[in-house]
Amino acid sequence: MSKGLVNKIIPFSMVDGPRNRMAIFFQGCNFDCLYCHNPETIKRCAQCGTCLFSCKFGAISMVGDSVIWQEEKCKDCGECIKVCKNSCGPKTKAMSVGEILQEVIKVKPFISGITVSGGECTLQNKFLVDLFEKVKKLDLTVFVDTNGSTDFSKNKDLVDLMDMAMLDIKSFDRDEHIKLTGRDNDIVLKNAEYLAGINKLYEVRTVIVPGVLDNFNNVNEISKLIASLNPEIRYKIIKYRPIGVRTDKIEAVQPNDEMMEELKVIASKNGCKNIIIV
Ligand code: SF4
Ligand code: SF4
Repeated sequence: MSKGLVNKIIPFSMVDGPRNRMAIFFQGCNFDCLYCHNPETIKRCAQCGTCLFSCKFGAISMVGDSVIWQEEKCKDCGECIKVCKNSCGPKTKAMSVGEILQEVIKVKPFISGITVSGGECTLQNKFLVDLFEKVKKLDLTVFVDTNGSTDFSKNKDLVDLMDMAMLDIKSFDRDEHIKLTGRDNDIVLKNAEYLAGINKLYEVRTVIVPGVLDNFNNVNEISKLIASLNPEIRYKIIKYRPIGVRTDKIEAVQPNDEMMEELKVIASKNGCKNIIIV
């Protein structure tokens, strides 16, 4: 049985889908967003060994050609990530479906389901299908938090199992999307239509970054799209916050409340009925 590469598991989250959920963050992303606030989840460890001597607590070792991270010794000081050329650090775990299930079962009475996130979780699609099959048997819901870069219409096994998806539309403009993420938004927009069409689009999210993105155009166009698909789909408009970001990649300030309210009015005028500002 294959393993999934997991960055971290949060047993209880109220912000990763409806009600209380376990959030599982998978390692590896095919976007490289300028504002990413979890840049350590983007790349995978290249096993170069550079970080071995950065850990004062003996949490990193090399066995053969593999770098091993021992969670029980880790003090979360972040030194290993600072020296890592891939900006990922060694703090990931290859977990089997059975190992993740054990974590789910521990908290099952207190959660309504799981949400898989990342990184970009759908890059580990086959593992997700195996995991979802087992989790559904526990009578829990399964939600997918995605950057929308993999074609859900060609991912029938996953789509049939998942309850709903939360989709980032980071920019409506193709060129701006490339500038922001490194990739175009063709499949992202196609996924929005496809997922809404099968009633599996729970939420669309857009991050507002003054001075970097054309935020008013984005919210205007994305909210029109949502309203045309299904006005009840939740539109979450998120303030950029300069926390955990790579300061060599982005210099931006947090938008003020007035700007967020203006954006909310635009989305509302365009017909969105369920708008959340965070
Ligand atoms: S974050 Fe953990 S593994 Fe990395 S240097 Fe600090 S203690 Fe060691
Ligand atoms: S975590 Fe980074 S520095 Fe450490 S072995 Fe992997 S790629 Fe090298």
